[in-house]
Amino acid sequence: MPVTSLKARRVDSRERAPGPISPRSRLWLDFVNTDAAAQQPGGDLLRDFEALLTWLQTQAAVDDERASGIRRRAVLQPAAAAATLVDARRVRAALRALAERGQHIERVRDDALIEINRVLGRSAGTRRLDPLPEGGFSRIFVPTGDAFAGLMIPIVESAADTMIIEELPRVRRCADPRCHRVFLDGTKNGLRRWCDMGTCGNRAKAARHRARAQGAA
Ligand SMILES: [Zn+2]
Repeated sequence: MPVTSLKARRVDSRERAPGPISPRSRLWLDFVNTDAAAQQPGGDLLRDFEALLTWLQTQAAVDDERASGIRRRAVLQPAAAAATLVDARRVRAALRALAERGQHIERVRDDALIEINRVLGRSAGTRRLDPLPEGGFSRIFVPTGDAFAGLMIPIVESAADTMIIEELPRVRRCADPRCHRVFLDGTKNGLRRWCDMGTCGNRAKAARHRARAQGAA
C-alpha cells in the first residue's frame, strides 16, 4: 500500500491505539509466503496464472471487475498470461531475498530495488483514492494499456512502503529452521521470533518443555 494511504489511515482510531501495526500494508510479505518454500508440502500457491489472479483478488489487490477482464484476456493470450506468472515469481524471489537478507546485505537490497523499479517503471496507469470497507483509505492503481503489466504494482508498492518508512529491520524469517515464512514484527520490543505463536511458536515451546523434562529425568 502506498505511503500516502498510510498517512490517510492514521486518522483511523484503531491505528492510533498502541499495538501491532495493521497487516494490510504488508501485502508483499504475504506474497512472499505464497512460494513453495513457505507452503511445504503443498507447494507453490501460485501454480498457474489463474491462481495468481485469484490470490490478488482475495487480497483486494485487484478488483473483481478488472479481474474478470484480465481473466478473459488470459484466455485469448495464454502466452502473455504465462509470462506474467513467470515475472510474478521473479519479483517474489527478489522480495524473499529482501525480506530475509535485505537488512544486512546491501547487494540484496540493491537487487530488490532494481526489481521494484522495473515493475514500477513499466506500467502506465492512473491512481484513485478508495475508502476501505473496514474504514480508512487505500490508494488504488488502475492500469491503462497493458493490464497484465499492472498486476504486480500493489505488491511492489507495498515493498516500497516498507523501505520508505524504514521498517525493513522489523521484517524477518521465522526462527523455526523448517519454516520459511517471513513476517513483520509489530511487537513493541521487536523480539518476535516466530511467524505464528499458534504453530511454530507452540512447537518451539513444546520442544523446550521436552528438553527440560529430559534434563530433569
Ligand atoms: Zn513459522
